[in-house]
Amino acid sequence: MEASETTTGKQPSRLFDTYVRMPVSLVKGEGPWLFDDQGHRYLDALSGIAVCSLGHAHPRLAAVIADQAATLLHTANIVHIPQQEALADALCDISGLDRAFIANSGAEAIECALKLARRHAHIRGIEQPAVLVASDSFHGRTIAALSASGNSAIQAGFGPLVEGFVRVPFGDLDAATRALNDNRQIVAVLVEPIQGEGGVRPAPAGYLAGLRAACDQHQALLMLDEIQTGMGRTGRWFAFQHEDGLLPDVLTVAKALGNGVPIGACLAVENVAGLLSVGSHGTTFGGNPLACRVGLEVIRIMREQNIPGRAARLGQYLIERLEHALAEVPAVVDIRGRGLMIGIELTEPVAELKDQAMDQGLIINITRGNIIRLLPPLIIDETQADTIVETLARLIKKQFPG
Ligand SMILES: *Cc1c(COP(=O)(O)O)cnc(C)c1O
Repeated sequence: MEASETTTGKQPSRLFDTYVRMPVSLVKGEGPWLFDDQGHRYLDALSGIAVCSLGHAHPRLAAVIADQAATLLHTANIVHIPQQEALADALCDISGLDRAFIANSGAEAIECALKLARRHAHIRGIEQPAVLVASDSFHGRTIAALSASGNSAIQAGFGPLVEGFVRVPFGDLDAATRALNDNRQIVAVLVEPIQGEGGVRPAPAGYLAGLRAACDQHQALLMLDEIQTGMGRTGRWFAFQHEDGLLPDVLTVAKALGNGVPIGACLAVENVAGLLSVGSHGTTFGGNPLACRVGLEVIRIMREQNIPGRAARLGQYLIERLEHALAEVPAVVDIRGRGLMIGIELTEPVAELKDQAMDQGLIINITRGNIIRLLPPLIIDETQADTIVETLARLIKKQFPG
């Protein structure tokens, strides 16, 4: 088989062909800006998919990375790792949960959550447990995470899938409650407060609280996937914190926690964390001094600068400007989101719009074919928000004239 052309077309690439890549190589970043190998500048309205929330090449993160690299990178979890313990404290502090397992990615955080659900079941004597999951959900690409995901495209050709998932329509509290009432095997519910890959779809008001009540009634764990929505993205540290008094049993975090350094975490309340005893779970790289030092610094910066508050303010501003600029465009079905997690749903597929935006110096993403997804760094200012709006409005109006 012939290897495919690289983005530059200069040599064949030896990478697996698992991505359609835009014909651009980004080689440098600064705050919300990215630069390609030709010297062109781009405004980043995607943050490497909700990862670089503090922007690119953040001086304080660069400094702690350099310092830690020159001090100690890795020991394995055979000894105490002070940075890991400090990060667990900080994560529990901002989330209200009690304990953390530090992993390397979102999918690994999900695996940890699913293992907690299985242990929870076995302790209750349920031998064939199930986790309730939602349609159009996305939880990652490992075999268990893709089995949990409500996306046939990412499952295709990978059967047999992991068993033990029951799926209901996202946002339908009646369906979820009925499933929990009817099926005694269901020991946990796993959902995203706002579906990201699924099209920037916020759960309806009261949905999470309703799930919390149903889980309590059936001794099921409420497990929230905040890998995309967490770390200030929606205007609070975590999206579930928009609902008064709500606390999940398990919370998965990743993406923006490392601002680009791979890290993930599974948080749990005390009695649930206790289900994973010595020897029952582990990781070689997870929780290493480098990744944890960065995660800790990310939280410090976000706290000092009230980044969640900034995301709330700029998100509101961006949505208002978008609504204003696109008010007369019939092809715009909906503009929605929370904080700086914003979706613009269009009547038709618009895959080429992301390439056109790239040509105009703006990096965006399209999900589900017809939904523009905006996940800019949380440090953007009003002028940069205006640039996003102006560029998008121009492109959308050109695409859908009259
Ligand atoms: C990105 C994402 C994941 C998977 O995270 P990886 O780090 O890519 O494994 C899981 N859940 C949600 C909601 C995500 O957005």
